Amino acid sequence: MRLLIKLFNILTDPDTKFDLFAAYPRFKLLIYNQRLHFIWRGFLLFILLTLILVGIYGPQDPEYNCILYLCWGLWWPAVLFSLLFVGRVWCGVCPFPIPGRFLQSWHISLGMTVPKLLIKYSTPIAVIFFMIIVWVEESTGMKDNPKATAYLILIIFSGALFCSLIFTKQAWCQYFCPLGKIMGIGSSISWLEFRPNHKKCRQCTTFTCRDGVDNKTGCPVSLGAIRVTNNLECHVCGRCMQLCPHDSPQLNIRFPLNEVIIRKGKFITCTLMIPFLIGSHFARFLDHDVLSIMDHIEKSCMHDWVCQMGLYAIPLALGFAVVYMIISLGDLVFGVYDDELLGSFSPMVPVFLPLAFAGEIVSRMNYTIANSPDFLPTIGRQFGWETLTHLSFTVPVWFYPIYGITIMFVAELAGLYILEKFVEVDFGGLIAEWRYRIIQISFFLLFAIYLLIMSTGWDISFLNILFIFQDSPLS
Ligand code: SF4
Ligand code: SF4
Ligand code: SF4
Repeated sequence: MRLLIKLFNILTDPDTKFDLFAAYPRFKLLIYNQRLHFIWRGFLLFILLTLILVGIYGPQDPEYNCILYLCWGLWWPAVLFSLLFVGRVWCGVCPFPIPGRFLQSWHISLGMTVPKLLIKYSTPIAVIFFMIIVWVEESTGMKDNPKATAYLILIIFSGALFCSLIFTKQAWCQYFCPLGKIMGIGSSISWLEFRPNHKKCRQCTTFTCRDGVDNKTGCPVSLGAIRVTNNLECHVCGRCMQLCPHDSPQLNIRFPLNEVIIRKGKFITCTLMIPFLIGSHFARFLDHDVLSIMDHIEKSCMHDWVCQMGLYAIPLALGFAVVYMIISLGDLVFGVYDDELLGSFSPMVPVFLPLAFAGEIVSRMNYTIANSPDFLPTIGRQFGWETLTHLSFTVPVWFYPIYGITIMFVAELAGLYILEKFVEVDFGGLIAEWRYRIIQISFFLLFAIYLLIMSTGWDISFLNILFIFQDSPLS
């Protein structure tokens, strides 16, 4: 009840925060207890290795291998969804860095610091890595290929291991992990934030949260609670809580849009990620539901995946270019690109961020929902459990628009709220009314286009205006 009242207070007064650790000490133990983290990570590492083995050596028929749904239908959408509520808590228990951390604790590592040049380009490297994953995933049918899915997990796993052998701490997580980059974007609009209590930090002389003490190593991503000012990099692993002599770290419930408003979307890993996400959604929705791009590409390429990737790059690049242009035009109309404290920025990036992330969640959920009826039967077929093979069900067609429209509508409101705060508070008096209205109308139009394209997958003819472009008429 107290939590609900606090949530209501936060919604009515977005500047208030609620310290969960102070209110629920038992909850604090969940993050503080490193043994618990260790058990979770060990368990997840076991699952991960099992998935890799089942993906590579198990049946390659998608109807006989449950790894596909576990990865693409459950794990990844669940992680994306969780970011909105608990930030990067997944990273606190993620098994990818564990083997490397073990090797480092046995001094099997060169222990170098990451060169400045690599740090400088680490964000574009990670973002390009993420783009390649989406590109390969969509153009080669990876989601139907257990071996390819297992190799993708193995590549990320190897990246984390390789970096730990060369560099100190979790350099992979800090600089190069493609999943970490999109998680940083998602968690910047999260309800939770892990932060230090600056009053307590003022009396600190040791900074053990960052550097560690005696034989206890400090923050795995070289932050330490003292340097956490946003949700982009902190893994909420709780390590610094054990190292802090003043009990400074706290976990606050906050108004989720404040971070992008205050930071004007700066540091959200890379401004290229937002147009890429939205552009790739357009390509994804149109591909599967209207133009059947992949079917045509597969036929033309005779299932040669290099050719498929080459041809699929066209809609992907077009989607990116169109959204990039819309964002640039929006910035031009807005007319203010500089902030006293933060320097130059793109005002449309934070405005578009909730929509981009919502589109990603809906796109992933579509796969989850559409393939859910066959999950248990697939396990049944794979392991010879006859009873499970009959446990299928039908997802009603109205379910897709319900969550699709709801999620996108909330994101649209969030974008409009950010825009309003920029116009009326942060740059009050600097933006002419007509500029504000043009951006608002354009933002509504983009929302309408999003829904229009999305609706083509709903199989409900009166909602699906684009059906005239489809190869086969709706049933
Ligand atoms: S950054 Fe990547 S590898 Fe590191 S903990 Fe997060 S998801 Fe795992
Ligand atoms: S979080 Fe703790 S260890 Fe870190 S600077 Fe603040 S008081 Fe010191
Ligand atoms: S600041 Fe570092 S040690 Fe503390 S919770 Fe975040 S990632 Fe973990």
